[in-house]
Parts: sequence; C-alpha cells; structure tokens
Amino acid sequence: MDLHALYKISYGLYIITSKKGEQTNGQIANTVFQISSDPATVAISINKQNLTNEFIRESKVFGVSILAQEAPLSLIGNFGFKSGRDVNKFNEVNYKKSTSGVPLITDHVLACLEAEVINEVDAETHHIFIGRITNAEVFIEGVPMTYAYYQQVKRGTVPPTAPNYVPKQAKENEKMNSYVCNVCGYVYDPAKGDPENGVAPGTPFDKLPDDWTCPVCSAGKDEFSQKS
Ligand code: FE
Repeated sequence: MDLHALYKISYGLYIITSKKGEQTNGQIANTVFQISSDPATVAISINKQNLTNEFIRESKVFGVSILAQEAPLSLIGNFGFKSGRDVNKFNEVNYKKSTSGVPLITDHVLACLEAEVINEVDAETHHIFIGRITNAEVFIEGVPMTYAYYQQVKRGTVPPTAPNYVPKQAKENEKMNSYVCNVCGYVYDPAKGDPENGVAPGTPFDKLPDDWTCPVCSAGKDEFSQKS
C-alpha cells in the first residue's frame, strides 16, 4: 500500500472557528466541502483531540474562513500549530464576530461561511460535522489557497492531528544544508530563504539572524536540526 496516493487528492485550506460560551477558538483544516446547494450545506472533518471539535459539539455552530493564496505561513502556523488551550489565537489576527458569535478571520481571507450543525458523524479519530449555511460573505476576489500550493510553494507542513497527515512522509527536494524544525517539520531551504520574513534566497542557515524563528510555528533556531 502506497499512502502517497493520498497526496493526489486536492484540497483547499481553511480556518474553522467555533465558540463555547464566551470562549472562541479556531484551527486550520483542509477538509471543507459543499454537500448540497438547496439548502446549502457543507461538511468539515475535525480531529477529536482538537479544542475546536469540543467547541463545535457544544455550540453546534462553526465558521469557515477561506484563505487566500497569499496567506502567510505565520497565519497558518498560528491556527495550525498552536493549541487554543495554550494561547489565544485571536490576539494575532483581525476578525469579526458573526451573528452567532463565531469569529470570522478577515486577514488574507477571500470569503467566509457560517453554519449550524445538522448532523455529526463519528469517524474514528475525527468527527465529520455537516452544517447548514446560515450566512456567507465574500470579502475580496482572489485565488484561494490550495493544499498543494501550501505544500509545494510555501513548503508548509501538517501536524499529526490533521486528517491528511502521513507518518514519516518522504520529503522531496531536501538538500544536505537544509534544516528541519523539530517542532513542526518545516524545512528551511537556504536556496529559497524565507522571503516572507526578509531572508533572501541563498542565505545559509547559520547566517540567519539570531532572532529568526520558524515561519510556521515560531520555534527558535535552536529547535532546528540539520537534515542528514
Ligand atoms: Fe516550526
């Protein structure tokens, strides 16, 4: 069995938000798809370990913020590699509250949806939530982020709780002088640098500023190991 076959499935990239009482949380997900148009419904798949899962089960509402292709790794890292149990992810971003009280991100987001849960399916490690759309808004026109773009162009990674995580995934295009983040798996490739954070292509890892941090999860340089 070659699980790389799963890489051939295409996805988008979204921030799923929800609430529990006065608390709010959100996370990155690649699994949002429309089921029907009348009534308009969507399905999302959320890991049972994630705080957002607990919030959706409790409040029965969720928001979907559809990321633009130019969304920076730092935004994706904030919602993808940090837990709402440790930090308030909304301190770092602009958002607005929907009528149901669910936060909808407005930075680097093309459009948003708001839905109320009409069904929940237990799927081993995940719950699939089916939601009826109660509100939908387009912020700006643009190209939506796809998962392939995130992986290939932005060199993003996924945490082990993501539905599409494949253990010990074979990384391509890695060179001897690349360094990998021990926290999130992001690979620093000197040939590409980190232009989003002012690091020019061709900058070796040891020439990075001391205060440079992982563009995905904000880990320090000392959390990186040289690729063998
Ligand atoms: Fe990292």
